[in-house]
Amino acid sequence: MDVLFRRAGSAALHLVRRHGIITHNAAVRRHRMSVATLAARRWKSSTPVEFSQEDLRKRLTPLQYSVTQERGTERAFTGEFSEHHEEGTYTCVVCGTPLFQSDKKFDSGSGWPSFSDVIDEECVILTEDCSHAMLRTETCCSQCGSHLGHLFEDGPLPTGQRYCINSASLDFRPKEARRPGTPGKSPGTPGKSPGTS
Ligand SMILES: [Zn+2]
Repeated sequence: MDVLFRRAGSAALHLVRRHGIITHNAAVRRHRMSVATLAARRWKSSTPVEFSQEDLRKRLTPLQYSVTQERGTERAFTGEFSEHHEEGTYTCVVCGTPLFQSDKKFDSGSGWPSFSDVIDEECVILTEDCSHAMLRTETCCSQCGSHLGHLFEDGPLPTGQRYCINSASLDFRPKEARRPGTPGKSPGTPGKSPGTS
């Protein structure tokens, strides 16, 4: 998983270099300095992972499709993860990229799942969003370009960040309980295999 994730991050970095997409920390700094000078960039057509619209319409719910593909927003306090407190990993509902860990989730009172940090800054891409007469930082999955939500700077310390994310953009993987004897994962005798022939 770690390797997979690093690859995903690396691919995202290439995107950033190639298309000038702003990264997490850089975006925050630039947002503070001069948000008005940043032009909104749409980059979805060149993400590393792409799915056909036909496929997405089949496997996503109408709400998931609307939020992730059409930059929609679910109604506050209605999402499946707004009051979700299980331990585990939140992933992109479209491509499965790990995005947030449950230990960074906090109750912002906003009605949307809120996180103080991402798993890796390269798993999301931030762009300026000037829609609805507001200047916001849009958060998208760096791998498939799906819209996730927005980033605000009123989160808890030490990051001070609040990733305000739609539940419809997320899937959840519970933290695995280790089970001795799981095929291929026996923790019993690493490096000792006397029965091998
Ligand atoms: Zn994705």
